[in-house]
Formats: sequence, structure tokens, C-alpha cells
Amino acid sequence: MDWGWKDEHELLRRSLADFVRQEITPNVLDWERAGEVPRSLFSQLADLGVLGLRLSPDCGGGGHDFWFTAILLQEMMRCGSIGVPVAVMAHAEFATMLIDRFGSPELRRTYVRAAAEGRMIGALGVSEPDAGSDVASLRTRAVRDGDHYVVNGSKLYITNGTIADYITLAVRTGGAGHRGISVIVVPTDSKGLRRQRMTKLGTHASDTAELFFQDCRVPAANLLGTENEGFPMIMSGFEGERLVLAVMACSHARLMLDEARAWGLQRNLFGQPLLGFQVWQHRLADCLTRIEAAEALTRRGIGLYVGGQPAQSEISMAKLFATETARDVARECAQIQGGLGYMEDCLMGRLHRDSLALTIGAGSSETMRSIIARCNGLVAGTA
Ligand SMILES: Cc1cc2nc3c(=O)[nH]c(=O)nc-3n(C[C@H](O)[C@H](O)[C@H](O)COP(=O)(O)OP(=O)(O)OC[C@H]3O[C@@H](n4cnc5c(N)ncnc54)[C@H](O)[C@@H]3O)c2cc1C
Repeated sequence: MDWGWKDEHELLRRSLADFVRQEITPNVLDWERAGEVPRSLFSQLADLGVLGLRLSPDCGGGGHDFWFTAILLQEMMRCGSIGVPVAVMAHAEFATMLIDRFGSPELRRTYVRAAAEGRMIGALGVSEPDAGSDVASLRTRAVRDGDHYVVNGSKLYITNGTIADYITLAVRTGGAGHRGISVIVVPTDSKGLRRQRMTKLGTHASDTAELFFQDCRVPAANLLGTENEGFPMIMSGFEGERLVLAVMACSHARLMLDEARAWGLQRNLFGQPLLGFQVWQHRLADCLTRIEAAEALTRRGIGLYVGGQPAQSEISMAKLFATETARDVARECAQIQGGLGYMEDCLMGRLHRDSLALTIGAGSSETMRSIIARCNGLVAGTA
């Protein structure tokens, strides 16, 4: 994707491209089999100065804007496994940005610095068995008891859940609805926390877990900001998360189209390459057109976000369109490979199954459509 990079961006892009080619791509299949990325990946990225790109410089971060995150993502996505960038993003962007923005000086010194240096790994715990899209109905409860909160409940589908050292956890501290929600940082060695890895269809290199809290005591000082004011924090974090998914989807779609094109030029059927058949020329032309449109929407969303302008509608459009494009492009690009595209050993087969997660994580397509409708006067009775 042509992002209109400046020199400093290009410098970062090149060093990341080398790193991904040498240190990540050759290991991807091992990590997928292990169901997790190694801790050393986080420290290597920290040594390169790219783990905490958007975290504050006073805590060891880079203090950069989202364009730098987009470069990191674009290069990491070339490794051919969505799970790898997902693990890094869940740590640096999803779990730790909230602590950086809303945590006390002590919390930031402890967690944000360790996160930027790759000494600790984070996870964001919002979703529950009965609260996914409907975040405001979450039930995991934290009750104040002296200098601690006592947490009871469970979380579902938590990326990095079993490898994390801390969970940035959404809990209910007040009454029903979005006004009773807080965010608290839970060290994973806390007594009363049990973690169980879940088995997924794809994105195997990122570990996903169910978390169970039973009378789990967490220092009250680990609360982010003010009690019962966690909902807007979580929502503000979602904007960055959705842009992460949009950039990942665009890069994923490009990679799949490159694979399909190479195959279409090389595979001969009935005396000519597959891309000699107009049907495939047209199908891949449609894919490319959608990818270009997804990239344009994503660039616009990032531009507004980085410029500090209201961007909820544009970010939702970018997330919706880019992830659905990646899902549809995956189907086309796997189809052109025939039986090979269904094989685990085939890169395209793995890209196809990984693409299914993109329209769900960080808010599903239906949630994006609801936000777009709400932001643009498309809901009857609210104009
Ligand atoms: C690989 C993966 C990693 C994840 N990582 C994390 C993580 O690190 N932390 C975390 O907290 N969560 C994580 N999640 C959870 C994710 O955010 C939720 O799965 C997502 O928000 C959807 O919630 P749900 O699965 O409960 O589906 P539900 O909310 O039950 O939705 C079910 C269906 O209803 C649709 N729907 C939603 N709203 C409407 C509506 N208004 N009208 C009609 N239909 C609607 C949904 O789109 C979906 O198709 C992860 C999920 C996956 C798959």
C-alpha cells in the first residue's frame, strides 16, 4: 500500500522488513504449532525500538503516531500469519495504551515501561460469555474491600490470555449499564485467577484464552482513572484497535492477491495459464479494486485519527470494508489455487482461514454497521 511515507517512515519500514524476513517468517509454522509466539519476540521488537511505538517516551515508548503502527503492521503481516501481529498488537496497542493514557504515574512506571521494554506481556480482557458486542452488559464484578478489589466472573476469547503477565480488565464496579464499568490492571500471578487456552480455527500463533476469577484480590491502586468511568476509556481504545484490524486486513488482502497472481501466471490448464482465462482476470481485477478502496478508506480513517478529529464513522467504515474485503478476497484467491488452496501446508490455505477472524475481533461487522448508521442519521427516531 502506498501510504505516502516520509524518510523516517521508510527507514523504519526497511529495518522492519529485514527483521520480519530473517526473524519471523522462518519461524511462523513452529509458532503456529506451539499456539503462541515466544516471549523473545517481544524483547527483540523492543530492542529494535518498535514494540511500544505509540507509548509515551517517559515510559520507554516511541511517542509516535498511528502511521508508525501502520508500518509495523504492514511489514509484520508479510510473515503470512495473522496471529503474530495480533499477539504484538494485543500487548502494545490494546492492553498497554489504556494504562499509558489513564493509569497513575506508579502504574505507568511499572507496567508501561516493562511493556515497552518487552519484559512484561499484556492482554485486554473485555469480552465475556454473555457480553461481546454488548460491552455495557458485562458482569465480571469487582467489589472494593479495603485496599483491594475482589474480582469474580469470567472473560472469553482473550488474546495473549495465557502468556500475559497482566490483564487490562473491564469490570463492573457499579450498577447496570455503561455507567457502572471500571478498568483495572490484574497481575496474572494473582491468586484466584485461572486461565485456559482455547482452540481456534486459525490465527494459531496468537494464544486465546478463557479467564476465570474467583475471589481474586487486586490492589485498588491498580484502577485506571476513576471508578465507574471505564466505559469511555474502553470505547476510546476501540478506535485504535479498529484501525489496527483495518490495516491488517488491507495488508492481508494484498498478500493473498500477490499469491493468487503468481499462481495464476504459473499454473497451466487446458493449454494456457489460469490468468489467460478472462474469468480469472476479472475476478482478480475485482479483488484489486476492492483492496484499493479499502486502503483509501483506511488511510482516511488514520489521517483523521492522527489529526485528532472525530473519526468514529470513518474508522468503522474502514474496519468494516477492509475486513470484509479481506474475507472475500481470501475466498477468491484460495479458489484459484484449487485443491492446493485448501491445504494446511499451502500459504494461501492458511491465509484463507486466518481471514475469518478479522470481521469479528475489535467489534464485528454488524457493530460497525450500527455505529455508521448512528453517526450518519440512519436510525429512525434519532435524527
Ligand atoms: C480471535 C479473536 C480474538 C479476540 N481477542 C479478544 C481480546 O483480546 N479481548 C477481548 O476482550 N475480546 C476479544 N475477542 C472477542 C471479540 O471482541 C468478540 O468476539 C466480538 O466483540 C463479538 O462478540 P461475541 O463473540 O460475544 O458475539 P455476539 O456479541 O454474541 O454477537 C453474535 C452475532 O450478533 C451480531 N450482532 C452484534 N450486534 C448486532 C446488532 N446490533 N444487530 C444484529 N446483529 C448483531 C454479531 O456481529 C455477531 O455476528 C476476540 C475474538 C476473537 C474471535
